[in-house]
Amino acid sequence: MYEGVVQDLIDELGRLPGVGPKSAQRIAFHLLQAEPVDVRRLADVLIEVKARVKFCSVCFNVSEDEQCRICRDERRDPSVLCVVEEYKDVVAIERTREFRGRYHVLGGAISPIDGIGPDQLHVKELMPRLADGTVTEVILATDPNLEGEATATYLTRLLAPMGLRVTRLASGLPVGGDLEYADEVTLGRAFAGRRSAQ
Ligand SMILES: [Zn+2]
Repeated sequence: MYEGVVQDLIDELGRLPGVGPKSAQRIAFHLLQAEPVDVRRLADVLIEVKARVKFCSVCFNVSEDEQCRICRDERRDPSVLCVVEEYKDVVAIERTREFRGRYHVLGGAISPIDGIGPDQLHVKELMPRLADGTVTEVILATDPNLEGEATATYLTRLLAPMGLRVTRLASGLPVGGDLEYADEVTLGRAFAGRRSAQ
């Protein structure tokens, strides 16, 4: 245990995802030894990101404006909608350059154990986007794990009566993992080889 503010810093860092007590200590001591100007820059960007970045009112991707860059882009194909769990999945899919449609970010996956059902996700905002017939294909690109599967199965049933083409990514993604950790080639292939969900 350290004194006062140093321990506070270690505690705060330790609450970040993927940062254990040892790493928290290492980062804290790195910051203590760093130049004040460097630490100030990090602090400023943390505050700025919370102040400036919000969520797109259409797809719930992160955005600095009312609508995100992808929703505003007229060159994107409006007939294909890719449903993902988190905005970091959007980043992963964009990296593959395999997809030119638009997205819908659910904000998580169905997980009864964690008390997360469809009502806690942006499912109800998805339906109006499909109402006017512009979207003809919905790609369910949830994570290849239990929660992702449950979410895709739920959405498949929900969308079935709407007469859309509903597809899933091809197998080959590392099972049990997160979409964002798949490499670009594997994810790109999974996209190209997507199959009907029904
Ligand atoms: Zn958007």
